[in-house]
Amino acid sequence: MTSQKKPPSNLPGEFEVIRKYFLPLAAAYPASLRLQDDAALLSLDQAARLVITADAVVAGVHFFADDRPDFIARKALRVNISDLAAKGAEPIGYFMTIALPSNISEAWINHFAKGLFQDQQEFGIGLLGGDTVSTPGPLTISITAIGQLPKSAIQMPQRQHAKPGDLLLMTGTLGDAALGLKLLQKTLTLESEDFYQFLTQRYWIPQPRLSLGIKLVQNNLVHAMMDISDGLLGDLQHICWASGVGAIVRSSLIPFSPATSLLCQQKPDLLETVLTGGDDYELLLSIPKETLPLIKEIAQQEQIFLNVIGEITAGKNIEVFDLLNKNYPIVVKGFQHF
Ligand code: ADP
Ligand code: MG
Repeated sequence: MTSQKKPPSNLPGEFEVIRKYFLPLAAAYPASLRLQDDAALLSLDQAARLVITADAVVAGVHFFADDRPDFIARKALRVNISDLAAKGAEPIGYFMTIALPSNISEAWINHFAKGLFQDQQEFGIGLLGGDTVSTPGPLTISITAIGQLPKSAIQMPQRQHAKPGDLLLMTGTLGDAALGLKLLQKTLTLESEDFYQFLTQRYWIPQPRLSLGIKLVQNNLVHAMMDISDGLLGDLQHICWASGVGAIVRSSLIPFSPATSLLCQQKPDLLETVLTGGDDYELLLSIPKETLPLIKEIAQQEQIFLNVIGEITAGKNIEVFDLLNKNYPIVVKGFQHF
């Protein structure tokens, strides 16, 4: 392109950056054409059903500009892998567009690429292409991930597939990432160094439940599934709207980590943050009752906590009951960018 104004940069040339730091992430994936062409070329089985998802992360919105570069990279990739997990899709590859402000150094890019490499190994996915641009604005990373539905899957679990009478389940523990963010923002303090580490790590490096999601969909065990990125209640609301159903959530059944339990005991007001705060990237499932035993068995094999937290109703609203079965007065609000 012809630039209006070439920004100052600490980096070697654009193509040198791509060759030195991004090509190693693509080299093992023939579809990338070694990042030497205008586009990638994917050969597919005839019956392949592609699952494609995009998510961007922006400094100052999704992470702190001075976070570790490898953490930023891994979060950018993981939020996309979490969407594949929620659809039970087996990863194929991803595209990455990165907009770099002028203060980014070569060492930063190296560290960033190492983070991507680490997670590519963990999740079995490779870089197929992308774009690298400069920006006068904040560091922005947009990733598009491509997966395919397992052959044995009858259909992809969709938000509109929940049915009254379904059980509502979630993986892992709720609220850790939202509290981790509060700790990093210094609006919350915590004495235990271990708990501080745990909660901030949950914010920085979400854990996509990829192999669990794939197995559940391979075996056709769930109606609706999504990842909890914008808060349990807000995300549940998406399922309810899409399916035209209501839900009951029993807060006493929601699993909390020891760190989150302690904080909520000390400050009961935090329960609202926990129920509505984002960034957990756990899976939320709506399942027919009869598949529960098999789902529990698979979760156990995968060593993932999976708990029934409520049920889907024929109503219109989400009701949250507390320990004493009293209706907990809560406003359902998930994160919205605007
Ligand atoms: P174009 O001229 O079409 O913008 P580029 O010159 O930007 O293409 O990119 C050259 C090659 O490098 C392409 O194969 C592209 O997919 C790849 N590439 C550029 N940036 C990235 C990136 N951030 N991640 C992965 N591949 C990239
Ligand atoms: Mg380009």
